[in-house]
Amino acid sequence: MKYFFLCLFFFSESIIAKVVLIDPGHGGEECGAVGYLGSNRNRQIFEKDLSLRLSIKIKEELSKTTSAYLTRSLDRAVSLQERADLADLVKADLFLSIHFNSSPNAKSHGFELYYLDNNSNVAANKVERSENLNLKGEELIVNQILVDLVVQQTVHHSKALARLVHEKIRPVIKQSKIDDRGVKPGLFYVLALSKRPGLLVEVGFVSNPSELRVVNEEKFMNNLAKAIASGVMSFINQSK
Ligand SMILES: [Zn+2]
Repeated sequence: MKYFFLCLFFFSESIIAKVVLIDPGHGGEECGAVGYLGSNRNRQIFEKDLSLRLSIKIKEELSKTTSAYLTRSLDRAVSLQERADLADLVKADLFLSIHFNSSPNAKSHGFELYYLDNNSNVAANKVERSENLNLKGEELIVNQILVDLVVQQTVHHSKALARLVHEKIRPVIKQSKIDDRGVKPGLFYVLALSKRPGLLVEVGFVSNPSELRVVNEEKFMNNLAKAIASGVMSFINQSK
């Protein structure tokens, strides 16, 4: 039954994108990555809060010219499947998942942009592991069929979207001296389950105190939100 609806979606949509679903990573008990700020490094900063702050700003920007929704607007837990189901509910054309990176190496730094595709990149696999945590066992095996189908149907659009968003964010991260780790393929189940062309953004490393200071700044978040929204709008306008 699931595949019937999936096929129906693919054959009825010619990807004239209008509705964007923005997905703030993690939430509730699931804090995501944790970083520390303050003179004694006693101020905890959670990825779930950073991702929500940035997502709200992206939504505000996109809402000026198109329809945009959030998978959560509060600090609450939402499963990967629930996030994907919301894409159907709001009839989303595009899906943007917002995350911040983390590494045991406190020196790791930089901005990464992922689109849904199969890949064999070791560094990408590390990020995939931490963002795919909510889906395990049989569910994953069943969904492998879905993943292959979705990749096949969306990769062309996801890549084009990634390229346009990347173009817009480059000057923003350069100005804030955040390294550009580029656009990469990644196997993120939240993207696959949404069945839409989409991106997963890893803004910067919260495990790196100096990078965390930058990405936590209001001004940086405002500029980044504008850049991401502008890249998405370029894609939407090109698709029309
Ligand atoms: Zn995350």
